Parts: sequence; structure tokens; C-alpha cells
Amino acid sequence: MTGHPSGHPSALPQPWHLPFELAWEALRAGSRPVGAVLVDAGGRVVAAGRNRSEETTAPPGQLAGTAIAHAEVNALAQVPTGARADDGLRLYTTLEPCLLCSGALIHSHVRHVVYAAADPMWRGVENVPGVGGLIAERWAHREGPVGGPLAAFSRLLMDIWTMARAAAVPAAPGPGLLDAPTVHAAYAALLPHL
Ligand SMILES: [Zn+2]
Repeated sequence: MTGHPSGHPSALPQPWHLPFELAWEALRAGSRPVGAVLVDAGGRVVAAGRNRSEETTAPPGQLAGTAIAHAEVNALAQVPTGARADDGLRLYTTLEPCLLCSGALIHSHVRHVVYAAADPMWRGVENVPGVGGLIAERWAHREGPVGGPLAAFSRLLMDIWTMARAAAVPAAPGPGLLDAPTVHAAYAALLPHL
């Protein structure tokens, strides 16, 4: 698919399609719209997860219905014990990892994380390795935010989630928006309005 007439891309680039597909699934299910995908050094998908904090069910080995059912945790929960840094694992997530997920990266020996958008809630988390020790040794290299339309889309999904839950704006985000069947449809529909 070629670019959108407005200049925005109309398709999500790789490797971001799957993380955002999962974020969109989460949003439609009522959970926070965050998706995470773990890939190996060859770019193959090793594990994937999404936020399920507001849901009651999850695939085996993943969390749902709890405040710690984060996308990154649900992806990393599938990493077999024994995976090590030299495996070259890399986590792609639609939103900057929080303190919990940064800790999960340490435990999982995943040394590289790429995130689409910054999360102001966790401003300063990049200073955590300053405490030194094991945290500093294993702290994953953080690459992001990637900026551009991907970051804008990620923030927009979070805004939609927030608005959809706010009693003061019951009509938000607009009738039919969450009926978009795929993340590609949502991405193409929303970006021209940014
Ligand atoms: Zn998290």
C-alpha cells in the first residue's frame, strides 16, 4: 500500500504492525492500549503480549484482571528460563516501559527495548540504573521514542482509552470508532486528523 494523500503512511511499518495490532485489541477489549512483541536476532517473533488489566481471561501463562497485566510482562512471561543476553532478544512496545516492565526486562535478560511513544507517567525511569549494581548491569538499552506518526498513534490510543472511560465525555471517542476491524483501518482513519 502506498502513502496516504495527506502525506501520512497508510500502513503500519514493520516491525510495528503486530505491537500495534495487539494494542488495538487491548483497546477494543477495554484494557489499556499497549502491545509488546519480542523478536530474536533474526527478527523472528519469539513472544507477544498485550495489556489485559481490565479483562478476565488471558492465554496460559499470561496475566489478566490485575494492575500488573502489562503488555511487556505478558510477552516476557513467555520467555523460557535460561534465555540470556547473547540471544539478542529485542522487545518492541508501543509505549515506554514502566518501572514494573523495566524490572521484568532485567529478570528476563532482555537487553534492548524499543518503544514508540514516551510515557510521561514514568518520567525519570531512565535514571533508575543510577543506583548501580545488578540493576545497572542488566538495565536494558532503551531506544525511543521513535517519534513521528507511530508515536502520535500510540499516544492517541491512550487518549482514546482515557476518554472512553471518562464519565464527563460519554460520547468520546465518537460512535463507531472502535468498530474499525483492524489496526490498519484505525491507523489510516485517525492519522489524517492529527
Ligand atoms: Zn509496564
